[in-house]
Amino acid sequence: MLGERSHGGVVVVFGSVNVDATSYVREFPRPGETVHSSGFRVALGGKGANQAVAAHLSGARVELIARVGDDANADVPMRTFAAFGLATDGVAAVPGEPTGVAQITVNGAGENTIVVTAGANAAFGAEVVEAERERIARGDVVLTQGELPTATIEALSVAADAAGARFVLNLAPPVPVAVGSIALADPLVLNVHEARVVGLGVGLDDDARPDAWRDAAASAVGALARSVVVTLGARGAVAADRTGSWTVPAPDVRAVDTTGAGDAATGTLAAMLAEGRPLPEAVRLAVAAGALAVLRQGTVDSYAARDAVLGLAE
Ligand code: ATP
Repeated sequence: MLGERSHGGVVVVFGSVNVDATSYVREFPRPGETVHSSGFRVALGGKGANQAVAAHLSGARVELIARVGDDANADVPMRTFAAFGLATDGVAAVPGEPTGVAQITVNGAGENTIVVTAGANAAFGAEVVEAERERIARGDVVLTQGELPTATIEALSVAADAAGARFVLNLAPPVPVAVGSIALADPLVLNVHEARVVGLGVGLDDDARPDAWRDAAASAVGALARSVVVTLGARGAVAADRTGSWTVPAPDVRAVDTTGAGDAATGTLAAMLAEGRPLPEAVRLAVAAGALAVLRQGTVDSYAARDAVLGLAE
């Protein structure tokens, strides 16, 4: 399970960390009802944690800045990071806060309900950005997601830009971050639902042609963000920057579990940009990483190593 050695790029991840606690039931309980589950699974979650693992497996040197609680649940992420060989010196415990938890219930039809307690992630304030300026300055790429407080994301965008690092913003969920911070994103990474929330591809439905999404991404360059990537699930992704726009189809694979595919793609994208690859090439590798992540059950446990990603994208 140990990760790949670094291939040169440094990715600084300001990320959310959760414990995903999943119960499997035949039918969801109604209010006041107790049902028994047929199984229970505890695993690492949180978009920041997932993306940090993906970037690490893709060969980047990852500096993860994150907050857990001072409770026993913190052992789950800390043990998982250690198993992957991911450095945890930037992961601190917040006194009096619980570790972030996602309580997931999956019914017999494969539908889920999720209750998220942000816990220590919500206590991850903008002062951490100030305290971590040295680490930010070491980053080729600084990556974050919509699961941290908006003030922290905004402070990070400015600090990354000032340090000359490439700011990659995965606005998932699509929280209301200042437009000036989104404008610094290079790229802004969204799925189709998030894209529509920020006004990109409004009027395009989920089945719209990938090239229509590509054109929407192209028209957002400069107006919304420095560059844009929109992931399209089984249909791959589109990307645009000042030099052009691209449609990248996904390899045809048999999907077993798509959970965390977006995080696999985003973490790999950050790693490949950090080692200096141009956007279309980095997106091609990210799409390959996303496709490999759907082949097996689980989130980070389903992520592929660098060689497999490079092999599939060839
Ligand atoms: P999630 O929230 O499930 O992690 P997401 O909505 O953020 O995902 P998607 O656009 O669904 O992101 O998927 C991200 C990437 O994963 C896609 O760009 C693609 O590369 C890959 N992917 C997802 N589903 C499939 C699939 N069925 N077949 C091949 N590749 C897939």
